[in-house]
Amino acid sequence: MVDESELAYLRRCVELATEALEAGDEPFGSVLVGADGTVLAEDHNRVAGGDRTRHPEFELARWSATRLTPEERAAATVYTSGEHCPMCAAAHAWVGLGRIVYIASSEQLAGWLGALGVPAPPVRTLPVRDVAPGVVVEGPVLELVEEVHALHRRFHTGKAGAADDRDHRNRDD
Ligand SMILES: [Zn+2]
Repeated sequence: MVDESELAYLRRCVELATEALEAGDEPFGSVLVGADGTVLAEDHNRVAGGDRTRHPEFELARWSATRLTPEERAAATVYTSGEHCPMCAAAHAWVGLGRIVYIASSEQLAGWLGALGVPAPPVRTLPVRDVAPGVVVEGPVLELVEEVHALHRRFHTGKAGAADDRDHRNRDD
C-alpha cells in the first residue's frame, strides 16, 4: 500500500512530468528513493532531442549502477508517473533495483494514447511483471491517475484543456 510519505514522492513525479511537458517533452517523471527515505536522484523524460531512449527510469537505473552498492540498489524504490516500459523494466532489473511504485499503468497509458489517436509505440506495451518477474511492483495509484492523464492529454492535444498564461500568449501570436 502507498502511504502519505510515498504519495509525496509520487506528487514529485507529477511535478517532474509537468516540467518535461513544459520543456516540450513527453510528461514522465521518476524519483529514486533510498531505504531511509532519502531522495537519491530524480529525472524526467528527455526524448525530444531525438534520443528516444532518454526515459527517466532508464537514467535512474544507470545512475544507480555507478553510484550505489548492490545492497543499496536492492533496498531502493523507484517512484514514477507511469509504469516502466519494457526497456526501463529490463534496466531496472539488470541493475538490481528494488520496488517500483507507479501512478498510471502501461495499460492505462496505452488506452489514453489510443483514444487520442497516437500511433502505437515501436516497443510492445507490457506490464513490468512480464519483463522483470522478480521486481515488486505497486500501482496504479488512483489518487493521482487523473493528473497524469491530464498531462498526456495536454502533450498530445497541444493547448486543449490547458488554460495557463502560455496558452493565452499563443493565442495572441
Ligand atoms: Zn521507458
